[in-house]
Amino acid sequence: MPDTANPDSIDLDELIDEFDTAPARLTIDLGALADNWREMARSSGSARTAAVVKADAYGLGLEDCGTVLYKAGARDFFVAVVQEGVTLRTYAPDARIYVLSGVWPGQEALFYEHGLVPVLASEEQLAFWMSVTAEHGDHPCALQIDTGFNRLGLGLDEAIAFADDVSRPASFSPVLVLSHLQSGDTPNSPANEQQLQAFRRVAEAFEGIECSLSASAGIFLGPDYHFDLTRPGIAVYGGEAVNGVPNPMKPVATAEARIIQIRDAKQGETVSYGGTHRLTRDSRLAIVSAGYADGYMRALSGSGVPLRQTQGEGAFGFIAGHKVPVVGRITMDLTIFDVTDVPQNAIAAGDYIELFGHNIPLDDVARAGGTIGYELLTSLGLRYERRYIYPDD
Ligand SMILES: *Cc1c(COP(=O)(O)O)cnc(C)c1O
Repeated sequence: MPDTANPDSIDLDELIDEFDTAPARLTIDLGALADNWREMARSSGSARTAAVVKADAYGLGLEDCGTVLYKAGARDFFVAVVQEGVTLRTYAPDARIYVLSGVWPGQEALFYEHGLVPVLASEEQLAFWMSVTAEHGDHPCALQIDTGFNRLGLGLDEAIAFADDVSRPASFSPVLVLSHLQSGDTPNSPANEQQLQAFRRVAEAFEGIECSLSASAGIFLGPDYHFDLTRPGIAVYGGEAVNGVPNPMKPVATAEARIIQIRDAKQGETVSYGGTHRLTRDSRLAIVSAGYADGYMRALSGSGVPLRQTQGEGAFGFIAGHKVPVVGRITMDLTIFDVTDVPQNAIAAGDYIELFGHNIPLDDVARAGGTIGYELLTSLGLRYERRYIYPDD
């Protein structure tokens, strides 16, 4: 123990074993990440499989995840914005990196310098990129077509007109045309078949150019949806891609938070802000060092939030073999779990509660907060101490 009465005696190096003492910590299993990507590649059949690493690899770290996915064999990557592409280039030297939000005037040098491929989505962007390549020389682009999402993309007729436009310079040709499914997570939605038919027309118009329609969920819809390149994201990170079926992917991220204090509370007392949870028995409460500032969002509270009036229980944690419920409102830095049912000698202050991971599925937590695993992962915030487990470790 450091001598706190005498600050000069504190050995700072000794205090820096952050993972074992972190208030909140995140373990990222990169072996599971690589296995999940390979599983997606197997499921993609004869199509090539990209890796979607936007938003700092779904919150899990672009550098480490990008490096491992590249080593696993990914050579096509999708990022959302150009800066993510610039960062990824260091870890994926000869990969093709697509930038989904396209390119703005002023950014073109970054695309040339780092060999990034803009995904163009409008007539204006096409015209801009054509003028850029006319001035600076050929540089690949991709084309996004909207087949029923009303997000980014050229309309179907616009796209087909562009494909057939004889006045377009012969050298100006996308290396990939892609579209995105609105309801891939719902296998029996008629929108899937409609978008598939529309995208087939696109593929025909752009004959000879690679085509991509499916993200994680679309891969599970079967070979018709695979085309030349698939674009899995969430499944690679262990999240649920398809509604209502067991998740076949390996969990990648485990979030844990430390118990700062265990307190006894009496039947009839209330818990946390607003006193919205009243104890129905004498209870033991674990006060844990993570809250909504750590992406353990307030909507996960056991009571006292609007969601609890319409939707079941709040989130659960896991400790010493027991699932334990969040009680009362989650606060900025602290969450209170009811650990009355955990044998008293099995836990102590300083122990860690799993927030999600192998015992508490990411998506169960997300559902308790009325959201999806994607949002939970990308909201984790900066306070977690992170440990990456590499496949060969
Ligand atoms: C985010 C995204 C993906 C990956 O989606 P997942 O559901 O995470 O697999 C693929 N394509 C596009 C265009 C995207 O925006």
